[in-house]
Amino acid sequence: MSNSSGTGTPALDLDELRSRFTEVFGAVPDGVWQAPGRVNLIGEHTDYNEGFVLPFAIDRTARVAVRFRANSAVRMLSTFGNQGLTTADAHVLDPATARGWTKYPLGVLWALQQRGLDVPGLDLLLDSDVPRGAGLSSSHAIECAAILAVNELAGGGLSAHDMVQATQRAENDFVGAPTGIMDQSASLLGAAGHAVFLDCRDQGVRLVPFDAEASGLVLLVIDTKVSHSHSDGGYAARRASCELGADVLGVQALRDVGLADLEEAAGLLDPETFRRVRHVVTENDRVLQAVELLERTGPEAIGGLLDASHASMRDDFEISCPELDLAVDTARSAGSIGSRMTGGGFGGSAIALAPAGAEQEVRDAVGRAFARAGYTAPDIFRVRPAAGARRLA
Ligand code: ADP
Ligand code: MG
Repeated sequence: MSNSSGTGTPALDLDELRSRFTEVFGAVPDGVWQAPGRVNLIGEHTDYNEGFVLPFAIDRTARVAVRFRANSAVRMLSTFGNQGLTTADAHVLDPATARGWTKYPLGVLWALQQRGLDVPGLDLLLDSDVPRGAGLSSSHAIECAAILAVNELAGGGLSAHDMVQATQRAENDFVGAPTGIMDQSASLLGAAGHAVFLDCRDQGVRLVPFDAEASGLVLLVIDTKVSHSHSDGGYAARRASCELGADVLGVQALRDVGLADLEEAAGLLDPETFRRVRHVVTENDRVLQAVELLERTGPEAIGGLLDASHASMRDDFEISCPELDLAVDTARSAGSIGSRMTGGGFGGSAIALAPAGAEQEVRDAVGRAFARAGYTAPDIFRVRPAAGARRLA
């Protein structure tokens, strides 16, 4: 595994973003749109099994300044990296030639065209402080900011639900990542002080109170700097195991398997597929329990569920890695009430829910443990459940 390219850069303020746009493209933007990254509180690898997830939008966002053009030329630039201007033709969008981050906005244009929307050329400047490749969905933040912008400028009239579908199409069929609907749902529908409870079967959404700081807790993200990639075989292999499990058990999706069915499933599945299935089934149940506890009691009640979720991903789904396990175990012994890896796995970030008074000890202990193990120093930062995607200017 290699180290990721670094963490989120500090955001430009709105005036800086607009004047940078004008410098680069020689005209003022039509508007600026923003969309957050997300942290999945609980419910991992349940989305494509038509199950339950509980992510929240974070206070780290991608912002795009956009101007529609009179011809079909697309010009894109990110404030991060030194890649220079990337160009494309809005009338000839080709996944095979799209490179780097620009495949996200181009995928969005393509998906909107597939829906019949007439999208012209455009200029787009991206600025984001969502850490890249850390499992916080910096890619969906870009897609969601872009789709909001293009939908509005093209008069597409898409609902949030339509935009969830269109970004999934962009990811699956243009970017080539077999992702579900969780990331964009959190980014588009999140709200301050809340998590987004999502039923991935009927796409029903309910906001659930999750204001850790009001309960004297902090939610820390520990970015292990170990890079993951959804295009890697691991993600596809887990998906294939889940499909196999559902086939053998004769259900449409693992969503339809309950805790009480596990004993029988053990006799029908090979041991590895059974472990994969057991993770999904127990994880769905943990999401439902977490929602109930958050609604009835508060964030302080869900620590045990976070811990159990991590153990299930480590032992049954086998998507953790030594760095994530060390982060989780150390955070817990340093005073966190619950901790788990978050995101697709094989690297990325862990989260730790800790009493505010233990924050420094958790940070120090994790830093020391990584140094002792000879791992790259992790990035540790607080996140708050924040508002979903919106127009800024
Ligand atoms: P995640 O979505 O978990 O952050 P992904 O691998 O899906 O991880 O997406 C990370 C990719 O998104 C990066 O490799 C890069 O191409 C792109 N990206 C994210 N933010 C930016 C940015 N500000 N500028 C350029 N590219 C970015
Ligand atoms: Mg991503």
